[in-house]
Amino acid sequence: MDNAGNQRWIRVVTNALLILASVYLISTIFPSAERNEIAYSEFLTDVRADRFQQVEITDRELVGVLKENKATPGKAVRPSVVKAARLPGMDEANLLKELEAHGVAFSGKPSSSLGWLSFLALWVLPFVVLAVMFRLTGRRIGRGALTFGRSRAKIYDQSTKTNVTFADVAGVDEAKAELVEVVDFLKHPRKYQALGGRIPKGVLLVGPPGSGKTLLARAVAGEAGVSFFSISGSEFVEMFVGVGAARVRDLFEQAKSKAPCIIFIDELDAIGKVRSAQGVQMSNDEREQTLNQLLVEMDGFDTSQGVIMISATNTPEVLDPALLRGGRFDRQVILDRPDVEGRLAILEVHAKKIKIGRGADLRAIATRTPGMVGSDLATIMNEAALLAARHGKDEVGMPDFDEAIDRVMLGMEKKKQVMSSEEKKRVAYHESGHTLVALSVEHADPVQRVSIIPRTIGAVGYTLQLPLHDRYLMTQPELEDQIAVMLGGRAAEELIYEGVISSGAANDLERASELVRRIVTRFGMSRELGPLTWGEPVPSRFLRTPFEAEQRNYSEHTAWLIDEEERRIVGEIYARVKAILTRKRDQLQKVAAELVLKETLSREELNRLLAQEPAGLTPSSAMPLRGEPS
Ligand code: ADP
Ligand code: ZN
Repeated sequence: MDNAGNQRWIRVVTNALLILASVYLISTIFPSAERNEIAYSEFLTDVRADRFQQVEITDRELVGVLKENKATPGKAVRPSVVKAARLPGMDEANLLKELEAHGVAFSGKPSSSLGWLSFLALWVLPFVVLAVMFRLTGRRIGRGALTFGRSRAKIYDQSTKTNVTFADVAGVDEAKAELVEVVDFLKHPRKYQALGGRIPKGVLLVGPPGSGKTLLARAVAGEAGVSFFSISGSEFVEMFVGVGAARVRDLFEQAKSKAPCIIFIDELDAIGKVRSAQGVQMSNDEREQTLNQLLVEMDGFDTSQGVIMISATNTPEVLDPALLRGGRFDRQVILDRPDVEGRLAILEVHAKKIKIGRGADLRAIATRTPGMVGSDLATIMNEAALLAARHGKDEVGMPDFDEAIDRVMLGMEKKKQVMSSEEKKRVAYHESGHTLVALSVEHADPVQRVSIIPRTIGAVGYTLQLPLHDRYLMTQPELEDQIAVMLGGRAAEELIYEGVISSGAANDLERASELVRRIVTRFGMSRELGPLTWGEPVPSRFLRTPFEAEQRNYSEHTAWLIDEEERRIVGEIYARVKAILTRKRDQLQKVAAELVLKETLSREELNRLLAQEPAGLTPSSAMPLRGEPS
């Protein structure tokens, strides 16, 4: 019998036994109330009233045979035999005296054959039933209990290994490039061991849902030809206490025995959220235990065992910093929302699976789908194929794609993930503002990339600056230039849209406010307040920034001064930023127009663009604004 059949059989038997047992138990606990059953007190009354001819005392009850049964008018006829339960602790000595006194013949029947049968039924049978139940269900429960702990990581070992390769993952070239080394290590672990090279134990993939994190992790396993264990963080923490930690332990055990392999943990944030912050006892012991176990396991193996962990999250900011420390998930790989070229590449991957008509233009689809991630694009291709089939066509044409795009867009609009072209333009100006300020001020880090494709839902574009070297100290001018870059987006909007600003700068302003607060209250850089610190940061083990909580230890007057100083400093910087952008308005137009077109500009593209003669900039090449004829 196969395993499933076996289990079904066991379940049937168990259920039948359970029903039998409950019937038995109910019938012993609540014996069917026989009509001749009376209370002991009533029995005694009958004895005293001389109603009995004879009484028999068995080990469970008193059976009284009534004298002749006269019908009393108005009363029900009594049965000729009545019984009362013989309860432990009842005053039987007294009963016997009463029986003697009233001349009732009585006899005991301590060990009738029925007696020992009922003894069997009462005391032995339940245990037998229970024992049988345990043998059957117990085995099932036992196995269940084991599998609770046993991680449900789906194993794809070499025989059934994932055949996903890097070719299946498109539009995330940088992420792929970062993982090539991991693949090489898994293929030739000896080479690395001999060289003593340090390979990351853990790689954290960061990106919005559907950007291909799981796909990429699979591709790494596929490229290296190693086993792939995958489990989701939320699966770790479900169910009973202690199980999460047991699962982690078991997962690592299994993985080590199958090395070389990859352990993939999706939704790492489900286990890896920052552990309890100050004061707030948001005690989620189960999750913390699981997290601690994960940390212990990660520290307890080294990559020479050929196990590499890859995890994924779309909210890296909530992760416990302990997870990101050296020797853990110390390599972070970002999967951004793809730009036009990336989207085209993804569409091409998925186009291989369907028959596309000659009129269909993948690039046009890519252009129409800013903000979409790989899974959205895969859905479009799939939907379009289904639509074509429904319309009885033998290839997928542009109308099918158009309809599919509309459908996917509709879903995204509900989730507020789609930008209108007007918004796109505004974001382009905003990001160009950051970029130009960064290129203009003396102390800003070089701009690596600027994009109007949001990195996370709810955010607008981004301007990526990479520091040239690690910094241990920041001078006041450097800090102020940082704030200047943060304010560049808002200033550009104000300039271009003639004072009509948007909510898009909220995050920039938040960061600027936080930084200026530190300048004033931590770094003692304000002329008015002098070289003192103000407010005590509330200490906490796991706080991510020192400013999450602050205890005020200064007067109302100082509070007012701090506010004033912050406002003055930011005000001065903002004026400077606006002056820069006013002076470079042409360049601002140019970068923004290019951004609308290409969505993402690399450092080289920016340099090329800005090196061009501004003579080429005619009013027509500047972007039209809302209301202006285009
Ligand atoms: P995530 O793990 O980031 O949420 P997945 O890897 O589960 O996303 O992606 C879901 C599906 O979307 C994939 O199976 C694939 O079909 C498609 N997809 C996502 N990203 C890409 C990509 N970069 N290239 C090709 N297909 C992709
Ligand atoms: Zn901004």
